[in-house]
Amino acid sequence: MGKHNESIAVEYVKCNLCNSDSTRIFMKVDGFNIVKCKNCDLIYVNPRLKFNELEKIYKNKIYFNNQSFKDTNYTFYGYENYLLEKKDIIYTFIRRLNVIEKYKKPGTLLDIGCALGFFLELALKRGWKARGIEISKVAAGYAKKHQKSPVFNGTLEEVNYKKESFDVITIFDVIEHVPNPKKTILQIKNLLKPGGIISITTPNIGSLPAKILGKKWEEVRRVREHIYYFSDKTLNRLLKESGFKILKIESAGRYFSVESAVRRLNIYSSTLSGISSKFTRILGINNMRIYIDPYYKITVYARKI
Ligand SMILES: [Zn+2]
Repeated sequence: MGKHNESIAVEYVKCNLCNSDSTRIFMKVDGFNIVKCKNCDLIYVNPRLKFNELEKIYKNKIYFNNQSFKDTNYTFYGYENYLLEKKDIIYTFIRRLNVIEKYKKPGTLLDIGCALGFFLELALKRGWKARGIEISKVAAGYAKKHQKSPVFNGTLEEVNYKKESFDVITIFDVIEHVPNPKKTILQIKNLLKPGGIISITTPNIGSLPAKILGKKWEEVRRVREHIYYFSDKTLNRLLKESGFKILKIESAGRYFSVESAVRRLNIYSSTLSGISSKFTRILGINNMRIYIDPYYKITVYARKI
């Protein structure tokens, strides 16, 4: 996993939403074409890395602790230091779980792509019977060791849960990675009890910041792992056609410590990041926690009909 000289297996796919293969180029990033379906406006990478190549990215032990956030010579993917940001991530999850609990009182919950299991930890504390699925062996291993919830290391395809066994299924920052979102959503529907709730967080390619930032947007710079770029419109359609009723779509911000927020600015401008970090150090506010919403991600809550 080094510089941009991969000569690895790629595959062509049809539109996951409408099965059309009529597209136009939406954007070219790092040698990959991001295309837009002329029929339904779904935006996706085509051709894209085959799933076994993607798996190598997710299974790489540095996925949740990736130095590429500091060194732009490396391929950009994963997280800078997921463990270090635990408190910020938990605070972010509290907001989402509060919304979920408006629709369902604590019952059975599955978190797909549970990473180190922070959402499971929170849900468990709030009385949910929570379990997780995680493709990364390192992350799943950590979750198994530190959380009291069962965690399956693998994909949704490989797991063998009983039909209609969950009240709630959460899938945060995952749907943009999966090879067949429609299939994933139908599998989720199958696992949800009637009236069960799905909650999805994903980057919103239809957002104004996404349009303004263009190729500099960190979500499109993750063109290897992000193979689908939903907007509220295309995500809406995916859910409706799969038998869900949309309850709420909200912008998904997150908590940062001032220090990590400033460090993250480096993705967009090293000068700005450098200047800001001097100021925040002088002001002594590096450990302060702030909620930042750049308005380029959405969380959707929907009910299985
Ligand atoms: Zn389409």
